[in-house]
Amino acid sequence: MKAEVVGVIRFDSNEDLKDAVTYLRDSAHMNSDKKFITDEGVVADPDGVDVTEGSIYVPLGLYKNLHGALEEVCKKSSSHRIVCTSDDGTFEGWTVNNNQTNDWDLYDWAEQNNLALVPKDRDGDEFFEWQEGVMEHFRDEQKDLLEMYEDFKCTVCVTCGDSITKEDDMGSTTGDDTMCYICDDKFQKEMARA
Ligand SMILES: [Zn+2]
Repeated sequence: MKAEVVGVIRFDSNEDLKDAVTYLRDSAHMNSDKKFITDEGVVADPDGVDVTEGSIYVPLGLYKNLHGALEEVCKKSSSHRIVCTSDDGTFEGWTVNNNQTNDWDLYDWAEQNNLALVPKDRDGDEFFEWQEGVMEHFRDEQKDLLEMYEDFKCTVCVTCGDSITKEDDMGSTTGDDTMCYICDDKFQKEMARA
């Protein structure tokens, strides 16, 4: 089954992390650089494994049978959070929050969330676009579940020096320099005045 998957899996011990990586490589979900490989054979960025944090990140992508492999990988993890959507012979979204799994029929979910009505012609482009939109919306709604969004702390604002800990606080990036949204806002206004 093909599903779009995004998530983070944490391990308390390096041994368990290593075992998980070996399993993912043996099942051809990860390459020798510890990066995930999507359904189209594309190497997903960023790196899948952070040894210092004891984490495996699954970058958002379309994967074949990865969900089954992750069930195995998660057995030894200290915590894991995963969000999936699938329109492959089904239309559903589900989340895994450690031992708790929740799933939704995305037709029902779209209706409950007042999204646009299902296009009548279920073979046309309009229908596929509608499905894509619903799935994106669903994953977006679930993103607080993923620690990877909370643990975004990968950069410091080049202007004010504050750390940017959430994706929402990020303004713009030029080369290796990133500005927080407050400084970016000021900068944009100054540019407009100049
Ligand atoms: Zn700043």
